[in-house]
Amino acid sequence: MSSNVLFLAHIDESGTALPKAAYEALGAAFDAATQLGGSLTIGLIGENVQDAANSVAAAGVRILGVSGPDFAQPRYASDAAALEAICKAVGPDIVIAPGTSRFMRVIAGVAERSKGRVDTHITSLELVDGVLTARRWFYRQRLEAVMQRRARPWFLVMDSGCHTAWTGVADTAEVETIAVQLSAEAKRTSVAGVRVPTAGTQTIRPDAKLLFVAGAGWSKKQPDGKTHLPEAETLILEFLRSSGASLGGSKSLVDQTGENQAVLGFMTHLNQVGQTGSTPRHPKGLSTCCHGEEPHVVGWRFITERRAVNLDPNCGWARGKADVLYVADAFQVMAKLNSLLAEKASH
Ligand SMILES: Cc1cc2nc3c(=O)[nH]c(=O)nc-3n(C[C@H](O)[C@H](O)[C@H](O)COP(=O)(O)OP(=O)(O)OC[C@H]3O[C@@H](n4cnc5c(N)ncnc54)[C@H](O)[C@@H]3O)c2cc1C
Repeated sequence: MSSNVLFLAHIDESGTALPKAAYEALGAAFDAATQLGGSLTIGLIGENVQDAANSVAAAGVRILGVSGPDFAQPRYASDAAALEAICKAVGPDIVIAPGTSRFMRVIAGVAERSKGRVDTHITSLELVDGVLTARRWFYRQRLEAVMQRRARPWFLVMDSGCHTAWTGVADTAEVETIAVQLSAEAKRTSVAGVRVPTAGTQTIRPDAKLLFVAGAGWSKKQPDGKTHLPEAETLILEFLRSSGASLGGSKSLVDQTGENQAVLGFMTHLNQVGQTGSTPRHPKGLSTCCHGEEPHVVGWRFITERRAVNLDPNCGWARGKADVLYVADAFQVMAKLNSLLAEKASH
């Protein structure tokens, strides 16, 4: 049985494009619609959706839009009304949306209003014996669920970094505008501004090829009996600058920062990788001065190639958790790496 697939997205902060995660989710929606032999419709919301619609015009599918100043900012009431109107106009069986913070807040509500069902953090979609099948992880990425549902519409919110982004040449798109009238009550919340921890925004780069993780060893006494924090800071920051890597931290290290000890100033709890931290997705990971204990390694679930530098040949990484373990002094390794990167950059 063919299915009507609806892809939903919102405009990003630039005001002209979709977030990267949306192009990935569009790739998944395209594949799903093709495999299901169904139609695909794109629904966009934002202050002005034309530029973003142009960026997906090459998809050659019907595009619906809800736009205007009322839809510029993420706000539950207006976003839910806009998305509900698009769903009503399309009557989809399957709805696919990116798991951005704006959509994570509102899609479940839209599914409820559409009398549908919703699943979030989807990592893949495929057809198994002709039935749409979604996968997601539970219990801190230790258990993988393989899910099918009879209920329709089925809303699937995709995690980022799990599907190749859809690409196409920009063209002029014809957008069917849906007018959504908001009550005064739906507009009573306004976004005054955005506050983000500066350290976190500078060092967390979800799209980086490499995740560089620092452990508590950087703040420990070294063979000369002294700590070398300023040196550690310089080495790490220089490496992040020249490699473009994203910065992760072990719980021990970020906790020290939180306790106001003199540790790496740019490390916050947002950097923490692991069971009680994040599970980032990067093709490669390099861990330094970190023991590789199980609760930490849980955060490495989706790192494809793992390498570690530790003085201790018996550390957790040595027990099969890293592809390559360098038994070496991380201060020396990173200094050498930085000089090699500087040399490469000068050519
Ligand atoms: C319920 C629970 C949840 C947890 N969740 C998390 C989590 O989400 N994330 C997390 O990270 N941890 C988590 N932990 C804590 C975890 O078990 C470890 O305690 C922590 O990850 C250890 O951090 P570390 O390796 O940085 O420090 P340490 O264990 O102190 O290890 C430091 C390492 O640095 C090495 N070292 C020192 N100097 C150098 C040098 N010059 N060169 C190279 N190596 C050097 C040492 O050999 C040592 O192996 C959790 C624990 C529990 C109980």
